[in-house]
Amino acid sequence: MAHWSEYLNREHDRFLEEYFEFVRIPSVSALPEYAADVRRAGEWVVERLKAAGVEHVELMETGGHPVVYGDWLHAGDDKPTIMIYGHFDVQPADPLDLWETPPFEPTVRDGKVYARGASDDKGGMVTPIFATEAMLQTTGALPVNVKYCFEGQEEIGSPQLQPFFEQHKEKFACDIVLSSDGLMHDENTPMVLLGLKGLTGLQINVTGPSSDLHSGLHGGVMQNPIEALTKIIASMRHEDGAIAVEGFFDDVVGATAAQREKIAEIPFDEAEYAKSVGITEFFGEPGFNTRERNWLRPTLELNGIWGGFQGDGTKTVLPSQAHAKITCRLVANQDPTKIHSLLVAHIEKYTPPGVTVTIEKTAGTGYPYLMAADHPGNKIAADVMHELFGKPPVEVFVGGSIPIVAFFKNSLNSDTVNFGWSVGDENLHAPNEFFRLENMQKGMRGYCMILEGMTEYPQD
Ligand SMILES: [Zn+2]
Repeated sequence: MAHWSEYLNREHDRFLEEYFEFVRIPSVSALPEYAADVRRAGEWVVERLKAAGVEHVELMETGGHPVVYGDWLHAGDDKPTIMIYGHFDVQPADPLDLWETPPFEPTVRDGKVYARGASDDKGGMVTPIFATEAMLQTTGALPVNVKYCFEGQEEIGSPQLQPFFEQHKEKFACDIVLSSDGLMHDENTPMVLLGLKGLTGLQINVTGPSSDLHSGLHGGVMQNPIEALTKIIASMRHEDGAIAVEGFFDDVVGATAAQREKIAEIPFDEAEYAKSVGITEFFGEPGFNTRERNWLRPTLELNGIWGGFQGDGTKTVLPSQAHAKITCRLVANQDPTKIHSLLVAHIEKYTPPGVTVTIEKTAGTGYPYLMAADHPGNKIAADVMHELFGKPPVEVFVGGSIPIVAFFKNSLNSDTVNFGWSVGDENLHAPNEFFRLENMQKGMRGYCMILEGMTEYPQD
């Protein structure tokens, strides 16, 4: 009987061909004209899981883009049930003219596969599928019980999935989730992910006079909506950079001395970072350094502002309206719904007389997420990554959001371990996205190794 590692070596070229076939499906979830392709990618995953030997594989309806489920549950009751997560939808490919080769025709250059979705997350999500096949086709069994959950709406924020998982709690019940939609710290350094941010967003609409007015005939006698808006916005942050919305920090946990010490150990070239984004100095909440602000602290950022005359030259107008968009990235245990209410109360309180304000909610209810470094799932993953990459993973927080991780926690009460192979420099969501083939090989082996390691995972 061959070992899974021999199988992975032997079938390498076929796996690569299959991965290319998967990447050629333009499964862009954001654009309605590609909905059939998203479904086709889901069907590809169904067939691929079946071929690997996974059972009960099905394409499940969600009311939007589908979810693929499958399982292999013969390891015995004394073994934990692991759920492997990934997504088969991708970001839109445009602007097309910036791609060196067509986005849906995978092209290998210097050991890297260039294509939309090559890294995020098709390259990531095929690694557990191929690993499963290697184990089932050699030993006929997996070391633990495994469920598979691949979705088609990650890139649009998984709008249907919170109710979906509520509805299918039993089916997706598991002890721990491994996310193939995961990141490495850099090309050679794996990472353990300890925290993700939540998200809430709104648009402020300020209205003064019922139409734009002549600034000579009507100027100087009424509140200008643009000025009123700037006053509201200015009230949201103190001069020193601290967010001034009352109650905003009430539920914040984390940023412990231990976390801050760990963060300080991870090499970080602040000057290089400033240069790379083209700024001369950093600014933010007092009492925290740049990385702590980004990783551990909630943010309030203006995303856009508009109103009045924007053309060339002068137009002597007193505008009727002004608008701004704001998003907040949240940390544990901030509740996005509560933060939205606090923002609304703040905006109403600071609206000057003479204008009316309406507020629209523009971004979801993404919950923040926090996971301990010594969580048994993280420890098992860290051991595997150490062996795989020859050095221990760094422990990091991410300023971004992955809504599904909070859904798994809220609906299934399961934590999610970062176990993917994308690197931040791989042009994720941008032209010329690529994936490193070497990390793909490691990823397949990594999934075999972690399924073996997970036999030690404590069951409730
Ligand atoms: Zn992704």
